[in-house]
Amino acid sequence: MTIVGVGLIGGSLGLAAKQAGLVARVAGVSRSAANRAVALRRGLVDEACEDLAGPLGASDLVVLATPVAAITRLMPEVARGIPAGALVTDVGSVKGPIAAAGDTALPDGRFVPGHPIAGKERSGPEAAAADLFAGAPCILTPTAHSRPDAVERIAALWRGVGGAVLQLEPAWHDDLFASVSHLPHLVAFALMDAVLALERDGRRVRYSGGGLRDFTRVAGSDPVMWRDIFLMNRDMVLKSLAEYRGALDRFETAIRTGDGDALAALMARARAAREEIAHRP
Ligand code: NAP
Repeated sequence: MTIVGVGLIGGSLGLAAKQAGLVARVAGVSRSAANRAVALRRGLVDEACEDLAGPLGASDLVVLATPVAAITRLMPEVARGIPAGALVTDVGSVKGPIAAAGDTALPDGRFVPGHPIAGKERSGPEAAAADLFAGAPCILTPTAHSRPDAVERIAALWRGVGGAVLQLEPAWHDDLFASVSHLPHLVAFALMDAVLALERDGRRVRYSGGGLRDFTRVAGSDPVMWRDIFLMNRDMVLKSLAEYRGALDRFETAIRTGDGDALAALMARARAAREEIAHRP
């Protein structure tokens, strides 16, 4: 197995697959010498390479685990370099454009798009963990081209590292995750931006409590990864953002007009929906 981008997700998959005995050998591709050294020291990969050309030709399976723009950019080179019969998958958080790029590069159906719903706001190979995918939903978004046997082999990989495999259609995946993942990250980044704009002497942020810290936890995530996600899933992110603006307007109107009943009703409805996720691990 070759993993391109040995960071949090790629590194965790390498380590978990090795520990579960799912693969004979893992090669990792990473541009940075420091990241390659960490990946080797932590046993995330057996071999760390600076560029793709070396390991591709000897791979049965290639996992693209870079930020999403690089996944689509690397796809043609990967398709050209792999042996006949090798499979390709990815872990990117946006699926429609990646599924389309995979279908173009590998029209014989050897690309199976994937997205594990696991992660944290820390990134890079130092943050990788063998149990990252234990119990996590791992979504596959096969296209009309994806071969059923290829889908089953990629599903077996995720099940082998502890994931619970689900299938979604790529466009529906992007619509769904724009609202429940991409929008919350966008709002967390934007909220910190708003607090900074209100800041005068550093006291606002210094005096803030758990509310701001908990709410904006995900604003500690990698800006390059999220830049790529917001731009690649632009239409669905803008659709969710418009819905959010509408919700803000409803709250603003209730506050402006002093309509306490409407305000409390809005919050009661929101709180009931939040209860559903409050006690999840
Ligand atoms: P990460 O820890 O930053 O790892 C990404 C790796 O890709 C880095 O180690 C980097 O290594 C390499 N890379 C970065 N830019 C590249 C480029 N332009 N070309 C080639 N390699 C590049 O990020 P991650 O959290 O693992 O995310 C990886 C993918 O998983 C993303 O597509 C993301 O959408 C998806 N994902 C993330 C999460 C999450 O919560 N973090 C959850 C599910 C899916 P070098 O700089 O050493 O090359």
